[in-house]
Amino acid sequence: MKIRAWIVASVLCLGAAGVPIARAQPPEATDTTTVAQQPDTITEYRSPTDKLARSGSGLVILGLDQVTGIGASKRVVVWDNTSRDMTDPETMFVFGHEQGHYVLNHIWLSITFLVVGLLIAMYLAYRLIGGVLDRFGARWGIRDLGNWASLPALMLLLSLVFLIVQPIAAGFSRHLERQADIYGLEVIHGLVPDSPRVAAQAFQKLGEKALSYPNPNALFVLWTYDHPPVSERVRLALDYRPWDVNAPTRYVE
Ligand SMILES: [Zn+2]
Repeated sequence: MKIRAWIVASVLCLGAAGVPIARAQPPEATDTTTVAQQPDTITEYRSPTDKLARSGSGLVILGLDQVTGIGASKRVVVWDNTSRDMTDPETMFVFGHEQGHYVLNHIWLSITFLVVGLLIAMYLAYRLIGGVLDRFGARWGIRDLGNWASLPALMLLLSLVFLIVQPIAAGFSRHLERQADIYGLEVIHGLVPDSPRVAAQAFQKLGEKALSYPNPNALFVLWTYDHPPVSERVRLALDYRPWDVNAPTRYVE
């Protein structure tokens, strides 16, 4: 059977996407210094610009906490600046969120989504490039598909395909993030006092660090947000209380 170029390209792209397979490192002891002052009661996501104006600094150092790796390298990473800037209960919530990705198999779900998505995108490009070259090839000075000059046209076509399917990928990612948020909320409930407020405060701090918009445009969210807007996550943290009404929890008993 002839191996189609679009299949090979999908596999190569997947490699380039960089599935991390570094050896797992033993966790290092970290100093979990607690932030001294307790925040006031939070009811919604507050614009980070107030805080910026007060601090007079535009410097942002993000904690890129994540769960990553496959097989033996699968691990949860919580950065030192997360434990530095957050209280211990807030850090526990961040860890709980990442643990949610781990327990709910989000890495394999994401890889599967990526593999299937790339195959579809490459197949679409393979089906469409002929028509594009028939229409524009002469004007662009491209003899045929075998001509290396067709590569930029192929890249352009792929970029358009990716642009069009981006809302699906972003929506899928937001769906997984929402699941991890709910897992995090459930897993710290009972472990820390007033867990909804702790989670809301953690989101407030994450939003401030990332300079997240308080009210992003819905279309902008649909197309580009791989996490739900921070205002939505703060709302979820404050409103998700199945234990108050004796409703079943979703992931953690
Ligand atoms: Zn996440």
